[in-house]
Amino acid sequence: MNKAHSGAIVLDLEGVDEGRNVINFAVSAAGIEFADPYFQFPSPIEVDLLINRSLHTLSVKASVRFALVGECCRCTGRAEENVKADSDFLIQHMVATPEELEAMEEDEDVVIVDPGKHELDLTGRIREAALLELPMRVYCRHDCRGLCPQCGQNLNDGECQCVELEVDPRWEALAKLNVQQ
Ligand SMILES: [Zn+2]
Ligand SMILES: [Zn+2]
Repeated sequence: MNKAHSGAIVLDLEGVDEGRNVINFAVSAAGIEFADPYFQFPSPIEVDLLINRSLHTLSVKASVRFALVGECCRCTGRAEENVKADSDFLIQHMVATPEELEAMEEDEDVVIVDPGKHELDLTGRIREAALLELPMRVYCRHDCRGLCPQCGQNLNDGECQCVELEVDPRWEALAKLNVQQ
């Protein structure tokens, strides 16, 4: 593994031994241009590559671990979460026939690398795998009570003085009727 340019993750194919290889390293989120409008990534992105090589075929299991910090969707407080992402793919280090190249374009789990090339940039693949696992919402804690809809008090800090408004269901039905007429 050599990181040629500005944190890019570049696999040196010649450096992968026949059989089982385990490669672990960490990169900064900024280094691999991993960014999101809703989350920050305060610690390095940890990447484990398990590579099984049989001649010109390399079976890769990549697992990516990172921490993210965002805003709790209920109370807007700080929420932190650990995320794990996986990407499994096959590298064929060989001359490909036009048919194989065509098939490869449809199958994103197979990468064909020309024998004249000895490096494969995995940055985009690792980044995509991580992006796919970003959560839709995060919580400061699993039982976050959120904010009072009336006064905005953070209910995790204690009860507010608001009285819950109760609507008689019969009145609600009547209100709907009025709207429709
Ligand atoms: Zn919260
Ligand atoms: Zn309130």
